[in-house]
Amino acid sequence: MTQLIADRRDIEFVLYEMLDIEGLCNHERFNEFNKRTINMMINEAFNLAIKEFLPANKEGDKTGCEFENGKVEIPDSYHRALDLYTEGEWVQLADPGCPGVVGMITNALFFGACSSIMMYPGLSYGTGLLIKGIGGEDIANRFSKKMLAGKWGGTMVLTEPDAGSDLGALTTSAKRNPDGTYSISGNKIFISGGEQNYHENIIHAVLARIEGAPEGTKGISLFIVPKIWVNEDGNLGETNDVVCTGIEDKMGLKGSCTCSLTFGGNGKCRGILLAGSDPEDGDDEGEGLKGMFNLMNGARINVGAQGYAIASSAYLYALDYARKRVQGKNLEKMRDEDPSVPIIEHPDVRRMLIWMKSHVDGMRSLILYVTNLTDLIEISDDDDEKTRCQGIIDFLIPIIKAYCTDKAFEVSAQAVQIYGGYGYTKEYPVEMLLRDSKIFSIYEGTNGIQSLDLLGRKLAMKKGKAFMDFLEEIKKATTNAKNNANLEDQAIKLEAAIDKIATVAMHLGTKIMPKSISAGFSFSKPFLDATGDIVMAWMLLWRSTIASQKIEGASKKDASFYEGQIKSAEYYIYSVIPGTMGSLDAIINGNDAIVTMSDEAFG
Ligand SMILES: Cc1cc2nc3c(=O)[nH]c(=O)nc-3n(C[C@H](O)[C@H](O)[C@H](O)COP(=O)(O)OP(=O)(O)OC[C@H]3O[C@@H](n4cnc5c(N)ncnc54)[C@H](O)[C@@H]3O)c2cc1C
Repeated sequence: MTQLIADRRDIEFVLYEMLDIEGLCNHERFNEFNKRTINMMINEAFNLAIKEFLPANKEGDKTGCEFENGKVEIPDSYHRALDLYTEGEWVQLADPGCPGVVGMITNALFFGACSSIMMYPGLSYGTGLLIKGIGGEDIANRFSKKMLAGKWGGTMVLTEPDAGSDLGALTTSAKRNPDGTYSISGNKIFISGGEQNYHENIIHAVLARIEGAPEGTKGISLFIVPKIWVNEDGNLGETNDVVCTGIEDKMGLKGSCTCSLTFGGNGKCRGILLAGSDPEDGDDEGEGLKGMFNLMNGARINVGAQGYAIASSAYLYALDYARKRVQGKNLEKMRDEDPSVPIIEHPDVRRMLIWMKSHVDGMRSLILYVTNLTDLIEISDDDDEKTRCQGIIDFLIPIIKAYCTDKAFEVSAQAVQIYGGYGYTKEYPVEMLLRDSKIFSIYEGTNGIQSLDLLGRKLAMKKGKAFMDFLEEIKKATTNAKNNANLEDQAIKLEAAIDKIATVAMHLGTKIMPKSISAGFSFSKPFLDATGDIVMAWMLLWRSTIASQKIEGASKKDASFYEGQIKSAEYYIYSVIPGTMGSLDAIINGNDAIVTMSDEAFG
């Protein structure tokens, strides 16, 4: 069967035609890289993803993980794929020295091929970085070195049965021991990779409350809790008192084990304080959660990238199928003797495909644009510019997390639809993509919580400057587009949408919120969705502006590619954005039924 994860031509378009990655590589920081080396790396990532990750994904989805006597076995096929991934040092591409966009796009290929395998190195690397960032050199040498090298696993241990979105409710406790370590005690659930048979050791980054610390988020501390104790010289000691009590039987991501863990069930779990608030030490309250949030910001972009990657794969499968599946007549040629046609000729199938394509392309551009901003921050000497770029990134994080993951599920659902009845069977990969993608809108802060972050925090961040800088970035694209008479009207329409989103933000902040916080936040998700649509339109118009300049004189293949950019933007701005404007009108009109209906009236 054809195996598809991402459009190679489109990746290069974003890297070299939209974003100036060749220019970036001229900077001394990144001058070990150039277009040739980057393309070679992308080729290698494609090869590994297609040859090893895709088949492992299929097997892992069938077999899932096995749990017995506190031990978890991950799918057999994952071991080889993980070995090759580790040996190829793919995870280290996120290290400084390599442009972030290269790490992002290569890892997105692995996400698209098998997101569940990627949970293991992704979390291990992220936790390793977190420990290194907060803990200093000794701690980094003791723990992070092997995690960053892919030798040890790592986990983020936040969730408890009664503390999911509200981490302030957590009850896992910590008590200082005379030797300076802490005794940890509590039950955690839903911990990805919490126990598994791939890594020699697992280092858990655990949120817990030191006895006597305040209630709520302020009193939360962050601990390093190794599965096997690591002595100060780096050698392994005794097994710690961390027990896996079960794994979840899930809808998707079946090869990624989701574990319940009991810490200190026998009173012997030791941890090391990484950040937090021991009342005996004084005033670093809230630092534990802050430390974890540093990790989560990066993780949220990665979850958005998981979403984009699965959407990309789902779209390509659907497109391939639509070109091959012959069914029904072309509407213009309906006589009996006229031949049946591939379903791509049916307008309704084309509608689904163009909707999917425009979102997939928009998301790819968005994720690489934001990653490129992090690269630009690294090479810039201008503090104001760094602050401006960081503000735009921070503003966009909840949108990337929530919008890209919601669209991943919707694109996958459209892919199933395009396959018809076959899409609902396990014979084709799209039903798995649909199941796998659902979790992205739930973990790393549910999408509802992301919208609270956008409306409650990000809009007002730096007195609204980050939001204004974000709008200014879009205006740069509309100004460029206006130089082309064919795109002028689309640019005007996008500018109207920007004006409207600014008006709605102001309206929510000054008219609705002061009267009713609940009414204001009842619009947070529609506001995030509308902002996400506008971001898509921005990316697509930017693409179209470039494509319009290059289409004349392009090779036949390139001309089709550029036509795809021009038509996608046209479709999106004329067919999707009017709906977005309607959603924004609904916010301004501000019906409050959501919050005024009594609980009983829900039925
Ligand atoms: C496969 C999988 C892997 C996971 N991996 C990890 C992991 O590695 N580490 C870890 O610590 N956790 C992990 N989790 C847990 C995950 O992060 C939580 O499930 C998530 O944070 C939501 O918490 P909850 O399930 O308790 O839902 P709840 O918090 O009960 O939320 C239920 C619903 O209510 C909404 N809601 C809740 N509070 C609010 C609010 N204040 N305002 C608006 N809406 C609200 C939510 O948006 C959601 O729709 C994983 C979960 C799964 C399923």
